Amino acid sequence: MIYINEEKINNLLFAARNADSARLDAILEKSRALKRLTLEESAILLAVDEPQYLARIFEAASFVKDAIYGRRVVLFAPLYISNLCVNNCLYCGFKSDNLLIRRKALTVSEINSQTEWLLKRGHKRILMVCGEAAPGGKSNIDYYIEAVKAIYAAQAGSNKIKRVNVNCAPLAVDEFKRLKASGIGTYQVFQETYHDGTYRRMHPKGPKSDPDNRIDSVDRAFSAGIDDIGIGALYGLYDYRFETLGLLSHVEHMEQKLGVGPHTISVPRIEPAPGAEVSFNIPHKISDEEFKKVVAVLRLSVPYTGIIMSTRESPEMRDTLLSLGVSQISAESSTSPGGYTGEENKKAGGQFSLGDHRSLDEIVGTLIRHDYIPSFCAACYRMERTGESFMKLAKPGTIKGKCSMNALITLKEYIDDFASGPVKTAGCAMISRYFKQLEPSEQDKLKSLFAHVAGGVRDEYV
Ligand code: SAM
Ligand code: SF4
Repeated sequence: MIYINEEKINNLLFAARNADSARLDAILEKSRALKRLTLEESAILLAVDEPQYLARIFEAASFVKDAIYGRRVVLFAPLYISNLCVNNCLYCGFKSDNLLIRRKALTVSEINSQTEWLLKRGHKRILMVCGEAAPGGKSNIDYYIEAVKAIYAAQAGSNKIKRVNVNCAPLAVDEFKRLKASGIGTYQVFQETYHDGTYRRMHPKGPKSDPDNRIDSVDRAFSAGIDDIGIGALYGLYDYRFETLGLLSHVEHMEQKLGVGPHTISVPRIEPAPGAEVSFNIPHKISDEEFKKVVAVLRLSVPYTGIIMSTRESPEMRDTLLSLGVSQISAESSTSPGGYTGEENKKAGGQFSLGDHRSLDEIVGTLIRHDYIPSFCAACYRMERTGESFMKLAKPGTIKGKCSMNALITLKEYIDDFASGPVKTAGCAMISRYFKQLEPSEQDKLKSLFAHVAGGVRDEYV
């Protein structure tokens, strides 16, 4: 696979087993200074298994998470627009030879009504997801653009979707340009596995069978002007240590060639998908403890990058991972096109089963209880703090002041429009607690924005 040196990764993993505790101490000290770790240092952390050393890695990860991101956690909902797919990824419920699911591609008006449903629950950020195929003879890119427009056009009262991120199949540069022009935020594409042999076995058919075309799509998206890019690996296909160093090698490639690293890293674990054999016989199942280590090592290795956790994970696991480095979570998801409304759609066409079935309001309430500020913010994108200019703020941790203020503004909007009684009470208490910690000039700014929100204005930010 281009950009990934397997021999180097294997050598680093082999050598890492001999590192002593003094080396580990030095690495943890470096990471507490918010410095990027090398592949070699990350390999040493990944080799740690003793509980007392793992606890120190977890502590350092929590420290770095707080230093860069503060207490805010960004919330979003996936919107699956279609489960049609020409590929046959062995782990996925949408694989082309799966006859157990009902195939469906949403029309523009269905996309609009699904989005309205999400808006009425309080969502402001959407991750649009789909298989690699379009309905009715349309080209993929035409369908994606139509869908993005339909999502932005939806409205519920004065609430609209602030940011559409997209997780779709790789495109050509001119298609990426059109996708960018439609107003998307981050483009996400997961390499699934960075191990070439495993990649080829897991993707036997269709355009996705070429690993080089897939990994290169990040560079193509960037050259088309999309500078917020999300990468990821699907944990369970190959050894987790290898995959993590693969992800980090990809980060290094991006930094060296594109000048910026990924905006986000996703770490999905394989979940059961009826009709997809590999999802029930996971070749390299990763335990909860190993998974926590992966998140912590990523947080320490690439402190400036957001880490995304989906509702594939259970509520308990998601709450734990928040303290170890996760900065964005999905809420109240359905992986079935049309699944937010109508029982039949909910059951029939899902990609995989979910581990967290809580409502958005319950998740917001739990976050507040654990002293995390739920955020529906999309300010960076509006203020053109993307790509390199975002990294300049994220690397030293200066973004967190803005993040906290924007999180409080969007929490106030959520409280005024959607929150249940108990969440309203807890949310108001959180806002006044955090308000008191701000500088007087920030308090003045926030006071006037809160007054706008109270007067019905939406989508305020700093
Ligand atoms: N079809 C496009 C692609 O493959 O890039 C984009 C969307 S695909 C629906 C989104 C992601 O779902 C995949 O990249 C893969 O990592 C993940 N996925 C597939 N099957 C899964 C499963 N059984 N459990 C958890 N995640 C899965
Ligand atoms: Fe299609 Fe993506 Fe599922 Fe593969 S992972 S079968 S490309 S939807």
